[in-house]
Amino acid sequence: MEERKPIKKLLGVLPDDDVLAQCIHCGLCLATCPTYELTKLEISSPRGRIRLIKAVARGEMELSQKFADEMNFCLDCQACETACPAGVKYGSMVEAARVEVDNSEFISPLTKVVKKIALKYIVGSKRNLKIFARLLYFYQNFGLQKIVHFTGLIKLFGKNMGEIDKLAPRVSKKFSDTFIPEIFNPNGEVKYKTAMLTGCLMNVMFADVNKDTHELLQKIGCQIYTPKDQVCCGSMQAHNGDFETAHNLAKQLIKVFSREEYDYLISNSAGCGAFMKEYGSIFKDDPEYSERAKSLSSKVKDITEFLSEENPEIVYKTLEQTATYHDACHLAHTQKIVSQPRTVLSRIPGLNMVPLEESTWCCGSAGTYNIIQHETSMKILDRKMENIKNTGAGIVITGNPGCMRQIEYGAKRFKVAAKVLHPATVLNRVVEWNYKEKK
Ligand code: SF4
Ligand code: SF4
Repeated sequence: MEERKPIKKLLGVLPDDDVLAQCIHCGLCLATCPTYELTKLEISSPRGRIRLIKAVARGEMELSQKFADEMNFCLDCQACETACPAGVKYGSMVEAARVEVDNSEFISPLTKVVKKIALKYIVGSKRNLKIFARLLYFYQNFGLQKIVHFTGLIKLFGKNMGEIDKLAPRVSKKFSDTFIPEIFNPNGEVKYKTAMLTGCLMNVMFADVNKDTHELLQKIGCQIYTPKDQVCCGSMQAHNGDFETAHNLAKQLIKVFSREEYDYLISNSAGCGAFMKEYGSIFKDDPEYSERAKSLSSKVKDITEFLSEENPEIVYKTLEQTATYHDACHLAHTQKIVSQPRTVLSRIPGLNMVPLEESTWCCGSAGTYNIIQHETSMKILDRKMENIKNTGAGIVITGNPGCMRQIEYGAKRFKVAAKVLHPATVLNRVVEWNYKEKK
């Protein structure tokens, strides 16, 4: 019989029994779950994991390696939430379960490095992230990366490190907060009062997407508040179970975004937008932050959601291309933003949008999943790339930085000659300036 480890004291973050009891075991979520699809094991399905969490929460089962593995095997893609007729909030259950796991002896060394050090002390600190990104830029662009791969040195850091290193996004030459002004006022009429999240990784690794988003907002007559001292929104830390860091970051962000008046807080990253929309409920009982958090959450809009709803006056250039759209999980499943990006893209003259089979199926990026669960992530990516290949599209459009990088990597792996672009980039290329005085 397997030797049982002693029970680690639970932290009390697992949901109450009545929340866990919402699952009626109907199994409708199973067909949408990438990990169940891979294993066909009940334990790797949403229903199976809910049973596990319930057993641990009730004290009927000890926290174990098996439990930890299953919680980390889940992508937290939340496709099961979309499928669930009972409205089970599975995402918050698995995130709470990860808090328990990460505070137990069952946390793996790689997970510890990624979650406890990288997400907390690097991504969670603007200053440290910039220092780290500069070093990474040097490593990626001055021959070091080639040397460690050529000599095989990279393999000393772990079995999959060579591929994980290739998968990392390229650091931008200039970070977006160095060229995006804190306040932008259009020369013409102010049509919309907006603020913009430049984010953490978006700022240092996807500065071009931030530039395109900001320029696009300028073109349609937005006043844009982009605070220089904004920090990471905390979404990656929360999805990986570090609520303390996530909530501290969220509070800082609420403070800086409460300094100016605006009607919309624009996000171009699915995970960040989804998490900022939760601030209101996270801080509902916090007397100091509840009002400001609620107000901030009510203003958050994904860039495609904003453009679809507001339908601003736009003059387009023609774009004679065939493209397809991949739904990022935190847009489709968490924010229920599915039709809006398609509506916005369908307005571009000449652009032939072809449907992508299983477009809402996760690409395997899932925050840090492609590092921590690299091999499984690649199996899930293979399925996505097969579907992309079948569209014959020259452009894959997706609204989340993690998905962009994962699919770009997949395109190389699969020799698919498709560019991967953010909707803001596609739009910025074809939207004409609305003002004579332009830049
Ligand atoms: S979040 Fe995704 S991987 Fe996890 S149980 Fe739900 S569908 Fe499966
Ligand atoms: S669809 Fe919802 S209620 Fe049905 S098994 Fe899945 S989580 Fe439970």
